[in-house]
Amino acid sequence: PATSMEELVSLCKRRGFIFQGSEIYGGLQGFYDYGPLGVELKNNLKAAWWRANVYERDDMEGLDASIIMHRMVLRHSGHEATFSDPMVDNKKNNKRYRLDHLVKDQKADVIAKVAQAMGQSADNFPAVVAALNASPTQASEALRAAGVRDPFSGEVGEWTEPKPFNMMFKTTIGPVADDESYGYLRPETAQGIFTNFKNVVDSTSRRLPFGIAQIGKAFRNEITPRNFIFRVRELEQMEIEFFCVPGTDEDWHAHWLEKRLTWWEDQGVPRSKIEILDVPKEDLAHYSKRTYDLMYDYPTLGHEEIEGIANRSDYDLGSHTKNQSELGLVASVEENNDSIAKLTIPHPETNKPVVPFVIEPSAGVDRAFLAVLSEAFTKETLENGNERIVLKLRPHLAPIKVAVIPLARNREEITDVAKKIKAELQGLGLGRVLYEDSGNIGKAYRRHDEVGTPFCVTVDFDTVGKGEDAALVDTVTVRDRDTLAQERVKISDLSVWIQAKLR
Ligand code: ATP
Repeated sequence: PATSMEELVSLCKRRGFIFQGSEIYGGLQGFYDYGPLGVELKNNLKAAWWRANVYERDDMEGLDASIIMHRMVLRHSGHEATFSDPMVDNKKNNKRYRLDHLVKDQKADVIAKVAQAMGQSADNFPAVVAALNASPTQASEALRAAGVRDPFSGEVGEWTEPKPFNMMFKTTIGPVADDESYGYLRPETAQGIFTNFKNVVDSTSRRLPFGIAQIGKAFRNEITPRNFIFRVRELEQMEIEFFCVPGTDEDWHAHWLEKRLTWWEDQGVPRSKIEILDVPKEDLAHYSKRTYDLMYDYPTLGHEEIEGIANRSDYDLGSHTKNQSELGLVASVEENNDSIAKLTIPHPETNKPVVPFVIEPSAGVDRAFLAVLSEAFTKETLENGNERIVLKLRPHLAPIKVAVIPLARNREEITDVAKKIKAELQGLGLGRVLYEDSGNIGKAYRRHDEVGTPFCVTVDFDTVGKGEDAALVDTVTVRDRDTLAQERVKISDLSVWIQAKLR
């Protein structure tokens, strides 16, 4: 695995996985572009999630809802009122920080002083943050007393009282910008699932329990985007809302925790690197009955959230439904006089309308990308003393499955065979197969090690009968990324050989 974020950032840029967004104009903070190899790896990762969660189950449906949503959706979801992070300003230089990030970035003795001023133990950082959020006046006093420094200037700051900062991007819809013609870019994909609950039930005849899965972009105006693609303003999420009969929710919550850990393992992210945080009651979001945060051990950052698996009770459908008072909701919801739909489903035993409970496994694609990359990253010292960097990605995630390399790029008898092999392997539907004639063979191997190509197939003079060994005619060399073993394989056997290895 990678030992630092830096080596991943550098690999991503060097080999074309990820670039800074709007780079030629100086870059835009919190936005990244996935390059030629990044888009392949990202697509493979999303496809693996979709396969496991939609195709391999019989209780799921898929969805692709729109990104810009009616302001009423985000009002009744609770986002207008509560989707905010506390921020503080430094009056000395007008820099603005997310309160918990600011404190976390201080030296240990300063953090200890802040914790003490808030009557908390420095060992329990979430409790310190909760206390800071709960009492703004005491918080700004604590920052001052502890001598909290500005991470930008390095000097002790002059801090304002923390204020909530709403993270939603708001945008005008249509040609007239009046008080009502605005919508929001969704801050999570989940709301599109809740607003389509009735459509999906009516069009598929689903009964409880069942889930709806969606992958898509979400937008959060993070106060301090940072740590490469870990915290960005335009992100992608893979979310499931699993609807179940109230009372069965705890079992389904346990089911999904297990399923998700298995999935991470299948992507090369082992359980031993994921800590399960059973979020303490006092830190739970208001809609949540219980939440497990999966905390992956990122290089440089340490354990940070890669996925949240929440039991959201009947809060979401209960918030978006009409006739709330008749439905015996468990969650406490804001009154809704705007919705025109009743979001119930017949109870599978009694047939009485019921608002189901929801289990939500919500993973970030970008954070998944980073974890997968980090686990695959390997630095090896070869027998000859040379160092090699190799991405030991699971084959289904590899951006390029096979590179077909003609040993001489201007000898037609060789390039013709190589192109034919490329076309045949491409036809297998495994993903991208690359015809690679960009440089000398040693460089090509090094490059494909670094981007995780499982196999390189080389067509040489022997293949076309212009070599020394007549027995090698119509065979190619196949090089294995991980073992570095080189095997001579008959061209007529190649498809079957590759398919078996990549399965
Ligand atoms: P954090 O506490 O790190 O800000 P969160 O608790 O707000 O995250 P959720 O609202 O639970 O995150 O979102 C679900 C998932 O979406 C997260 O587990 C994470 O993988 C991803 N995610 C959330 N915010 C971002 C972001 N700004 N950049 C990248 N991924 C994100």
